[in-house]
Formats: sequence, structure tokens, C-alpha cells
Amino acid sequence: MRYADIVLPLAQPAYTFAVPDGMDPVEGQAVAVPLGRSKIYTGIVWRLHDRRPDCKTVKPILRTLNGDPLVGARMRALWEWIADYYMCTVGEVMRAALPTLMKPSARTEEEFAAGEYRPRTEWYVALAEELHDEARLHELFERLERRHATRQYDALLEVASTEGSDRIATGEVPRRLLHADLGVLQTMRGKGWLRMVERERTTEPPAAGGRFLLPELSAAQQGALDAIRRQFAGGTGTVLLQGVTGSGKTELYIHLIAEVLARGGDVLMLVPEIALTAQLIERMERIFGSRVTPYHSRLTNQKRTETYRRLNGSPGGEFVVGVRSSLFLPLHHLELIVVDEEHDPSYKQVDPSPRYQARDCAVVLGRLCGARVVLGSATPSLESWLNARSGKYGLAELTERYGDARPPQVVVSDTLRAVKRGERKVHFNKLLLDRMEETLAQGGQVMLFQNRRGFSPYVECGACGWTARCPDCNVTLTLHKASGQLVCHYCGHTEPVPTRCPACRVADVEPRGFGTEKVEEEIARLFPEARVVRLDRDAVTSERAFQAIVGGFAAHEYDILVGTQMITKGFDFGGVRLVGILNADNLLHSPDFRAGERAYQLMMQVAGRAGRRDEAGVVVIQTAEPQHPLIGQVVRGDYEGMVREQLSERQQFFYPPYARLVSLTLRHRDVQLLRRAAAALAARLRGRFGRRLLGPMAPPVDRIRGEYLVGLLLKIEAGASFARARRILADELTAWSGGESEFRNVTVVVDVDPQ
Ligand code: ADP
Ligand code: ZN
Ligand code: ZN
Repeated sequence: MRYADIVLPLAQPAYTFAVPDGMDPVEGQAVAVPLGRSKIYTGIVWRLHDRRPDCKTVKPILRTLNGDPLVGARMRALWEWIADYYMCTVGEVMRAALPTLMKPSARTEEEFAAGEYRPRTEWYVALAEELHDEARLHELFERLERRHATRQYDALLEVASTEGSDRIATGEVPRRLLHADLGVLQTMRGKGWLRMVERERTTEPPAAGGRFLLPELSAAQQGALDAIRRQFAGGTGTVLLQGVTGSGKTELYIHLIAEVLARGGDVLMLVPEIALTAQLIERMERIFGSRVTPYHSRLTNQKRTETYRRLNGSPGGEFVVGVRSSLFLPLHHLELIVVDEEHDPSYKQVDPSPRYQARDCAVVLGRLCGARVVLGSATPSLESWLNARSGKYGLAELTERYGDARPPQVVVSDTLRAVKRGERKVHFNKLLLDRMEETLAQGGQVMLFQNRRGFSPYVECGACGWTARCPDCNVTLTLHKASGQLVCHYCGHTEPVPTRCPACRVADVEPRGFGTEKVEEEIARLFPEARVVRLDRDAVTSERAFQAIVGGFAAHEYDILVGTQMITKGFDFGGVRLVGILNADNLLHSPDFRAGERAYQLMMQVAGRAGRRDEAGVVVIQTAEPQHPLIGQVVRGDYEGMVREQLSERQQFFYPPYARLVSLTLRHRDVQLLRRAAAALAARLRGRFGRRLLGPMAPPVDRIRGEYLVGLLLKIEAGASFARARRILADELTAWSGGESEFRNVTVVVDVDPQ
């Protein structure tokens, strides 16, 4: 008897099933298997063997799905690496890796079959055999003409001429290339004039070979490109390309990509958030045409599955531009991975498991496939910077903007001083308002950055200090004025704004603080002539809404763009001359060891939007702490200074890259039980890890959706074996919650390398 270990899309280990006689599955193939009493799942054959598991009954595999293996050997190795490193099951990786339609599950066979992906089919049309005789064809044309059967005449003409064209190698014309009605074609088929078959729609592979029109590089760019090539040739697997915004990093990628595509290799380019990189995709399509395959969450399930299947059978020469999950696409000839904006936090999946960091996984995938990896950024993560300095990664640099473009001039505006002098209107210092006026008068565009959405982060009673809080989470509710509601940004709970303070019944509640919505409203009042538009999660209700905002601003249908982090990524708006950062202080003071690094990266990225083409732009930073060292570093563009300062802090307090972190979050409705559970786990872990364990402690938000939260943090120094630490942790977690433990129902979220 043969057996197969099957990975299921669950937080459970692989299960063993029997391989029925006559079935010949291969490793990596998808199969349908029964689980429990009445559930059918899609699983992936992980290992075939002949060891009978010791349990009473071993259920058989129901059937194999798809002819080809879905998950190749190297991809299976990546899944296993992720499961091991991020402390989850391979099944959880499967959940993230495969498009939905490739992993149906259901109660009955019928439901399962209904949920399966069905390739789109298409009619293929050809002339009937006898009409390949010129004389007969001619005769038919005349007959149709005599009868004034124009629609049939046109259809016949179209089929005959398309069939004969050198575009169609098979002699069969896909229906979509014809203008003729399907009904007309069917009638003609009935008369025996046409042959028609319905078959799976073949997506044309991208045109082979490839001569691409590449931008000519400047001397500095050529130097950096040569440096990258040299390091790759010398055996370096990963190179960090550090280049200021506008220096031409993308142009370098293009050269590297073209080289690989021309020899039939595959390229994967990871980008932080696809909607915001629509411009990048367009730019790539201008050069690589149909070679570009976008992959992101806004594609339909059908499209994603088609893409996966097409790539799985591709002979090579593919170029995928996608978000972090495109890491899992079957590129069998992968030679190059580009990770753009490698410092971007969105490369880390926070929820659900697997909580993987796609940039780091890309480096691992590169190693598994023998593919080269380029990490690009103007402001690399401290981890990558240190890896490049220590020689683990290669390094190439671009220190100047391309052409005549000059770096923006950064001006700091002291908020407290402005208040004292009476030079502040609502949330804007006079300095910024003056600059805005000037810019608008000259026909320039303005971007305003505020990293909070909504109208006000909280509402407060003027008399007693009551604030509106979420009933299920320990956070204040944010006022959204457009909808007139208070919204919880953690669980989505909404309620109306109370007309009277519910606590003292004396006063009205008042909005405090400000979000993008409020900025938009105030700006509209201060600049009644200007056309203002807002870009944040609330404004982007659909892909169309997004395109309307971004496209409209690019076409200068708006003068001022107000937005959250969404405005910072990947845009190249020629007309932006002024960028305002409205409140740098909440960036500086977020309670997170990465706050400094993030604040710098974010401000530099926002600043990079100013004056990209022929003239230098201006950036105004409003802050109550103009003396803060980080503000000075931003003003000077002093990345190295920022890095040295942040690294010395990280070293002193023992944070990455000098230590590796594992954060544990425990959750339960019963706060007493949760406290006992956390204390018990902490005691266990302290016994094994000593002072490397911190906590239990209350996380910044200690109640979400009615559940209480407690955190523990493990810090493993860079020199120690992290693999061993994870093993010990896994064992202790099992011992703590396993069997009849009173803590077995406490949810534990394990996050390795938390952001
Ligand atoms: P980065 O990716 O480093 O921000 P880009 O590659 O987007 O920089 O380049 C910034 C701008 O300069 C773009 O508009 C780009 O088209 C232009 N540019 C950069 N290098 C060249 C070049 N060698 N030839 C023509 N245009 C270039
Ligand atoms: Zn009150
Ligand atoms: Zn809530």
C-alpha cells in the first residue's frame, strides 16, 4: 500500500492518506481528500511513502486535481522554510500561496466540483473542408450575395481572410478575433460551411525573443549597473541598490530585467502596494509590452488562477510585477528578483498567519532558485543597510537625482512659535500657508501629508473630559464627518455622535486632533479657489475611485492633494512644487523601536514627491520639536547620520538588527484566565530563556473585539542560534497549552520578526 502526506490549507500538520490502486499522484500535485465526517478539502501531495500511520483507519485520496503538479520542488522548499521560520504550519503557507479557486473545500462532492476552477472556454472557427477549394468558396460567396445574406457573407469573408493570415498557425480562428455574431456562425455551421469546436481558451504566451528599447544610462547609472553586474558575477546573491528618489533606480532595474528576459529567464518584481504602483506598471508595459504580468489583490479570483496556471506551464521569459503574495507564483525559470522600496512595512504580512516578510523571503527564494536579488530603496531598512556594510549583501549607490533635477529644499516650521506669535490658523502655520499661496498663484500643485485618516482622532466633552471609546476595543473612536459617525479603526464598530455628553449631560462633545478629512475641509475654506482632493482608505472605495483621484491630480484637475501614507508611494506627479508634512510629531513619538527609522523613511519619501522634474521643490515640515535630531537629519538628507544614531540606540536597548524578536500575543475574553495563562507561560519561558524574555505586558491596545490581550516578547541576541530558540519556544508552547491544560483555549499569536 502506498501513502501520501497531504498538506491541507489549515493550521494543522500534514495528514496521511492512502493512495488508491490505479491512482498515481506526484509530489506537489493537488488532490481532493475527505476530512472529519463530512468535509472535502483540496490538499497538496507533500510526500509519498509506504509507512502506514498508526491509527485505525486511513482514508483514501478521493481524486487528483489538475494534471500537473501545482507546487514545484523549490516552491515546496520555500513553503517549508517559511513554516519553520515563522512558526506556522505548511498548510497556513498554502492558504497564502494559492489563489482561492485552486483550493476549494466543501461538504459534498457536488459542491466541491462546483467550487473548482473551470478554465474559460472559447469557440474556434474554421472553414469546412470543402470550402478550401477556391472555386467552391467563390460559388458560396456569390450565392450569399445574390440572396442579400450580408451578415453571412461578411462572416464568411472574415473567417476566410483571418484563417489565411499568418497570425493563425493552426488554421482555427478564435471567436474573439471575429466580429461576426455567434448566432450567425452557428447557423453557418448548421449548413456545413463552418467547423466549430469549443476548447479551453489558450492565453497567448508573450512574444518570444525580445529587443526592448532601453533608456540610455547616465555615467553614474552605468557605474552602478556595472557594480551590480560585477558583484553578481563574483557570486554575490543579493545586492542592495541605495539611490535617492529620482536617481534612476527603476531605469537600472529595467536594464537588468531586459537582459534576463532576452535570454528566456523569468523576473519577479515585488512592489509594496500595487494600486499605488499603477504608474510603475504602465512604465514597464511601455518597454516590455505584454511580457508584464501584474499580480495583486484587485484581480478577480478567476484572473489570479489563470495567471497561476499560465505561469505554471510557461517555457520562460515571464515578468511578474506584484505584491508580496506573488512570491509564491510558479516561475520555473526565475533568474532575477527585484524588491522595490525594500524598506516598506507592507512587505510584512501582519495578519493572518503566515506572518512573513516578503523581502526576506525573496532573498531565501533567490538562494533556493539560484536567482539574483536586487533590493532597492532611497532609505534602506537598517537590517539591509547593516547586511550590505558587513558584506553579507553587495552594495551599489546612486547619490544624485537624474539630469538637472535638484533635491528638494526642506524647511522646518516651529508650531509652538507660530502659536505664540499668533501665526497659526487651525492646523497650519503661516509659513506653510504663505508657501501654498505662492505655489498656487504660480500654477503649481501642493501635496499635504497627515498620517491619520478621518476627521478627528477623538471627540471629547468640554466640561467633564469624557471621550467616546469603542465598547469592544480599548481605543478612542475616530470621527468621520462625511458619514457623521464615530468609527473604531480596529474593529469597524460605528455609532452616531452623541448630541449631549453621555457622562455629564452638560456640554456638547467636541472634535479633537485632526485627520485628513478635517484637513480637506479646512483647506477648502482657506483656499476657496483651489480644487482640493483627498486620498486615503476612506476615499478609495474602489479601483475606479482611486484612478479618478490619482489620474485627476496627475492631469492637474486638482491643485491640492491631501492624504495619508497612500500619497507617499511611487507617484511621479510632475506639477508638485510644494509638499507639507502637517504633524511630524506623531511620527517621531509612535511607541515602537522602529519609530525613528520609519519617521525618517516616511518624511524622505513624502519629500521625494516635490519637484521631480526640472525645478527643485519645497518641503515644509510642521513640528513642535524643531530641535529633534531626526528633523535635522531629514533637512540635511543625512541618511547615514540617522542610521548611526538609530543603530546605536538599537544596540544599547538590544533591538534588531542586534537581536531577533518573537512577539507573543495572548487573547481571551476572560481577563482573569488570560492573566493566569500569561503568567504561566512567562514562568516557563523565563525558565528556558532567562532575561531574554520580557513581559507579560499590556500591548498599546489591550482589548479588541471584546477580547483582552497580553503580550510577551522574546529577544534573542544575534550571535545565538535562533533556530534553536524557536524550537524551544515551540516545545514550551505545546507543553503550556497542550492536552488538558486549562489554557488550551487561549489564542496565541506568534509573530517572528514583528514590525
Ligand atoms: P527612482 O526609481 O530612483 O526614483 P526613476 O528611475 O523613477 O528614479 O527616475 C526618475 C525620473 O528620471 C524618471 O522620470 C525617469 O524617467 C528619469 N530618468 C532617470 N534616468 C533616466 C535616463 N537614464 N534616461 C532618461 N530618463 C531617466
Ligand atoms: Zn461631559
Ligand atoms: Zn472596536
